[in-house]
This record gives sequence, structure tokens and C-alpha cells, in this order.
Amino acid sequence: MLDPNDIEAKKDALIWSAKRCFDLRLQTNAGGNLSVKLSAAEAIVIKPSGVGFNECTRDNLQVVHLDGTIEPSPFKPSKDLDFHLGLYRVRPDIKAIVHCHSPWATGYASAGLEIPCLTVQTMEKIGRMPLIPLSPEGGPQTEAEISPVFKDPKIVAAVLANHGTIGVGSTLTKAQYLVEIIEETAHIAFVRDALMAAHGKRIADMPRYGTAAEAKAASASAS
Ligand SMILES: [Zn+2]
Repeated sequence: MLDPNDIEAKKDALIWSAKRCFDLRLQTNAGGNLSVKLSAAEAIVIKPSGVGFNECTRDNLQVVHLDGTIEPSPFKPSKDLDFHLGLYRVRPDIKAIVHCHSPWATGYASAGLEIPCLTVQTMEKIGRMPLIPLSPEGGPQTEAEISPVFKDPKIVAAVLANHGTIGVGSTLTKAQYLVEIIEETAHIAFVRDALMAAHGKRIADMPRYGTAAEAKAASASAS
């Protein structure tokens, strides 16, 4: 039996996250999708197809069981429902997923480039955000391409070529912050790469950098 109070709370959290994506221009129109697991973990709340992030309400969000059964709803399920369910199945630590078509990150991925984790925060919070190519048939990425990447428990973010970004987390807030960091990092990387190209600098000539923990370990082994 699903807990109606938990469903309302999770819907409100999802609406907060969706509006934040819209306000930050991470997702316009009705693309992208996001979901969060109920506390009892037997079902999720997810944005349906055709509803914009800025138009999410308690009345249009869907409740879907982990086996794919959709609670009665007049809306079409998200095209990406299968990959959301797939990620919850492969990684029980994942409690929320935010997927949006943010332009800087999607631009990087569409050029066939993995976004470098070049800021201190990206190194600490993400570590690596794999680039997932289009499906072998040339269509959008499906559960078959996305789930295997997230089998690695260290992966919390990925970018889909010609498509968008994915952030996952133990809470919706954590997943939300990750899609914000992905986009911010892509923007910073673009500025860095454009300036370096304009000034004839090469990435290979830049100082090597790592996380604070790596720097500490390096100074300990040097002394
Ligand atoms: Zn999408």
C-alpha cells in the first residue's frame, strides 16, 4: 500500500527541482525528466511525457512501481521511464534522478567530448562524468546504453551525446545540484578551451591538479 503523505511530499520535492531547472535554464519546453523514489522504495514519482518542468503540479506527476506498473494517469509515461527504472534497479543507493537537456553540457557531448572535471568542486563531487554515445542504431540512448555505465558505484553523473545530462543521488537535492555542476563545468571548460586556443596554450603544458586528498597524499609521499 503506497503512503499518500509520502507521495505528496515527493511530488512537492520534484516540483521544487523541476522549477529550479527551469529557472536556471537547464531545461526549457517539455523535454527532460526527473524522478524520485518513495521512502518505502517500491515506487517512484516521475514527470510524465509532454509536461514542462515549469508546469509540474501534484496533479500531473505520475507514480510508477519499480516493475513498470503505472498508477492510473491521463498522461503518457516519459520516453525515458525505462532508463529511470533501470538505474534504480542496478543501484539501490540511487534515490533520485534528474535528466535535462542543458545546452553547454549537451554541446560538449554532441561534439563527442567528455566534459573535463576541471574545477575543484567537480573533482570532489563528481570525479568523472562519462560520455554515453547514441544507441548503436543512431537513436537516443536507452536503458541498454545507460545502466551499464552506472553499474560502477562511483559514477554519479553522465552526459548523453546529442541529448542531455544525468545526475543521480541519495536525495533529489543532491541529484539536482549535480546537473547544475555538470552544466557549470561545461561552461567553464568551454571558456578555458576557447581562451587557451586563442592564446596558443596547450592543456599538456598546464600544471597537473587533483583533489585535496590527492594533493595531501602526494605531499606525504614526497616528504
Ligand atoms: Zn532527454
